[in-house]
Amino acid sequence: MRRVLIVGNWKMNKTASEAVAFVRELKERLPAPSTTVELAVAPPFTALESVRIALGPSFPIQLGAQNMFWEDSGAYTGEVSAPMLKDLGCRYVILGHSERRILFGEQSDGIHKKIRMAFKHGLRPILCIGESLEQREGGTTDTVLTRQLHESLSGLTHDALANLTIAYEPVWAIGTGKAATVDQAVAAHRTIRQALAVTWSPQVADSTRILYGGSVTPQNIESLLSSDQIDGALIGGACLQVDSFATIARIASVPRSIGV
Ligand code: PEP
Repeated sequence: MRRVLIVGNWKMNKTASEAVAFVRELKERLPAPSTTVELAVAPPFTALESVRIALGPSFPIQLGAQNMFWEDSGAYTGEVSAPMLKDLGCRYVILGHSERRILFGEQSDGIHKKIRMAFKHGLRPILCIGESLEQREGGTTDTVLTRQLHESLSGLTHDALANLTIAYEPVWAIGTGKAATVDQAVAAHRTIRQALAVTWSPQVADSTRILYGGSVTPQNIESLLSSDQIDGALIGGACLQVDSFATIARIASVPRSIGV
């Protein structure tokens, strides 16, 4: 059984002191720790250390980063490496987010190198893939998802993939308030699982968590999680307010009745 994972991607929001105030309030408001859901936050690099300290050693929210570079160290001005993130206590790193691809020109070969480096250092990558509106309307969603998956993961072994999470994030749903319908998300997740089964194995397809991301809110999380194809959510805007993130966490911590 795949455990539900809810990840808040703060993007370029909150100074370190704002982050600490946010985490203190969030800790008060979250539901009791549950075995059915795992929570994580991905603050900007500048707030990782403060958030880790504010969370404390035993509070059950994992720490994630929003990106990293594919070398361990060296002359790469402005970059941050996997060992640096690991040392700060990160468990997860988001890779291949569409904002990185579109605004910063990230290509699949670089994302592939980052994924390998994350695994090498014991970080768990959350690989984001998703089609643009044009691709969806052109009927190429499945081809795009399968291609992005293969380009990012080629050559990786079954064992490595045990620590992979995939986030299906249709570009047209991110930050637009127009989430995918449950049917659209389920169809995309099935395509991704099928590609994992064909290229790796049915076991990899069964065990890999696939999150949905794109305008997730307290209002739509319950229906998204009603499908056993959707193993959680990557959340942007709605994770920036304590209220909405705590509400999403509470809804997600209710054991699921299995759907489609
Ligand atoms: C995201 O950026 O990963 C995201 C899902 O954003 P939002 O929830 O704001 O659509």
